Amino acid sequence: MAEVLLENVSKVYPGGFRAVDNVSLAIADREFIVLVGPSGCGKSTTLRMVAGLEDISAGTIRIGERVVNDVAPKDRDIAMVFQNYALYPHMNVRRNMSFGLLLRRRFGNWDNPVGMLLSPSKYRAAREERVAIEKRVEQAAEMLGIRQLLERKPKQLSGGQRQRVALGRAIVREPKAYLFDEPLSNLDAKLRVEMRAEIKRLHRSVQTTTIYVTHDQEEAMTLGDRVVVMKDGVIHQSGTPFEVYERPVNRFVAGFVGTPPMNFLEGKLVRHGEALHFEEGANRIQVAPAHAAVLARHANQPVVLGIRPETFAVAGGGAPGQSFSASITLVEPLGDRCDVHLSTPRHEHLVARVANGHALAEGSNVQFALDSSRLHYFAPGADGHSLLQNLAADPKAA
Ligand code: ATP
Repeated sequence: MAEVLLENVSKVYPGGFRAVDNVSLAIADREFIVLVGPSGCGKSTTLRMVAGLEDISAGTIRIGERVVNDVAPKDRDIAMVFQNYALYPHMNVRRNMSFGLLLRRRFGNWDNPVGMLLSPSKYRAAREERVAIEKRVEQAAEMLGIRQLLERKPKQLSGGQRQRVALGRAIVREPKAYLFDEPLSNLDAKLRVEMRAEIKRLHRSVQTTTIYVTHDQEEAMTLGDRVVVMKDGVIHQSGTPFEVYERPVNRFVAGFVGTPPMNFLEGKLVRHGEALHFEEGANRIQVAPAHAAVLARHANQPVVLGIRPETFAVAGGGAPGQSFSASITLVEPLGDRCDVHLSTPRHEHLVARVANGHALAEGSNVQFALDSSRLHYFAPGADGHSLLQNLAADPKAA
């Protein structure tokens, strides 16, 4: 077990493309961290640099006390699980799980008839190492519920079972850290959810530092102690799942985390008497008292309002300044709730996620209540920063 530290790490591929740009990240001992971001954001490259599969162009990577920049992958004491499980097809599950460890035995070369003749004590030591490895394999198989599969070959296993074997092979190594690169993306949706829980349980029991890469924000949110959101080789935000969801630092993170994504409305902050309002065109929403202090300096300026789909409440409208009117363009039932697509004269595509049981007819108008303390405000532009960033730092405002 170990801390993993990245200090000002960059990767420039031959040809000059900067895939990772000055990334610094401290992953605590036993922490489960998830690197998440859209395709091409540099998350796999970052992981591969920690694994040693990719050279580092600049910066330092430490695993435990040791700088590993020039340490070969096999000597970094990490175990990696990839999207394609890369099991040996001709070996059974037991052998697939034990093979790497058997190769690394101190007395492995003596575990044969010649070894027995030349040095019975070394031969005995090699046998003891083998027995210890077999025990570790049995324990890992037990933990993953694949004990009954130990004698099967990979082709006799389902996708989920193969992925469990790949996990088992990583567990028996008892490494300093686990690195996962999209390990569940070959599985169907139901199995992915099952395996996700499995990986989380596994981490709870083995308590080993883990870095997990995925493009799936839901997977990131459910798995990580901490989620690191990347784009264009840069870390945009690192925080607990709660922090990145409730206090996104910019519009990119706000839009990336959450399904359906946050709605963004272009508008302006306007003063009416004492109160500050956001004007969208058809709707005027009063800024929550807790937000007004930090937003006051943006009065009369264009800003972007962020509304999470679940913040819309069907309650016959809210108090003045707390309601939002829109027309319904489409209703998508989802079993226990539905996604309601909305439009206003200024914003053609908004989505509200609401509980079932309301009369919501396509083509009709609806008045939602909005809890203004749950709204977000951003500077204009695709990556506009959150205008509420100072809020948490100011306990009076929070
Ligand atoms: P994905 O989810 O699609 O795997 P990612 O976030 O893991 O994306 P990386 O694989 O880290 O992204 O790649 C980051 C960027 O670096 C991409 O734009 C990719 O095209 C580029 N890249 C990756 N490998 C190389 C390479 N060997 N040479 C040049 N560019 C590369």
